Amino acid sequence: MKVRNGRYLRSATKPSEVPSLQVPRVAFVGRSNVGKSSLLNQLAGIRGLARVSRTPGRTRQVNYFLVDERLAFIDLPGYGYSRAPASLREDWGPLSEAALLMHGGTDLVILLVDGRRPPTELDRQMAEWLTSKGLAWIPVLTKMDKLRASERRMAADALAAMAADHPGIATSARTGEGIAHLWKEIESVGRRDSKKPPRPPLEARRVRGPRVHRETDRE
Ligand code: GDP
Repeated sequence: MKVRNGRYLRSATKPSEVPSLQVPRVAFVGRSNVGKSSLLNQLAGIRGLARVSRTPGRTRQVNYFLVDERLAFIDLPGYGYSRAPASLREDWGPLSEAALLMHGGTDLVILLVDGRRPPTELDRQMAEWLTSKGLAWIPVLTKMDKLRASERRMAADALAAMAADHPGIATSARTGEGIAHLWKEIESVGRRDSKKPPRPPLEARRVRGPRVHRETDRE
């Protein structure tokens, strides 16, 4: 999938700013430094679209990007960075929950897990929470170019244990591995969504998610 036009749309810093969009929405979640911005840039084929951060845990806003005017990418704040100020961690939950659940819920959530490490407790909590909310999600391993063959197998096994109904996709923002596969999953959501009835009107559901922002999770 070749993106012709990917552009920054807007940011939300609190639940009341979460926009109601008329296009399918694909959200990207994962712990800080997992490689989310790099993957977003690689997917959209535009270097620097989502900032690649060197100070993880410092972005708490939700960023919206519009891809070819027909698909929204939603970049959520990374969770579980222990060095982030407490106020930042406190804010992860309500804002991210709102971005995932408001206006009928996102159409697909890409849950990113660092391929070099087994999924953390926070990753597992996130997976359980997404499932409990009925959100469609797929696990994606990042930074696969850094792994040896034996490590790749271990990473895939760990991921399979986390998500019984989806094998997950191994990716690398550096080599482009898995990007076409991931695009296929995203495209299928776009097609599914076009058959759905129009979105319900603006609603602000107050739903509590896991308290993942209270946990610490060291690098
Ligand atoms: P974010 O905090 O989740 O948005 O993560 P970033 O995209 O900012 O990446 C964090 C760090 O990991 C940066 O130094 C990136 O260059 C590096 N990185 C991200 N993706 C890859 C990848 O696929 N391969 C390698 N080798 N490094 C990556």
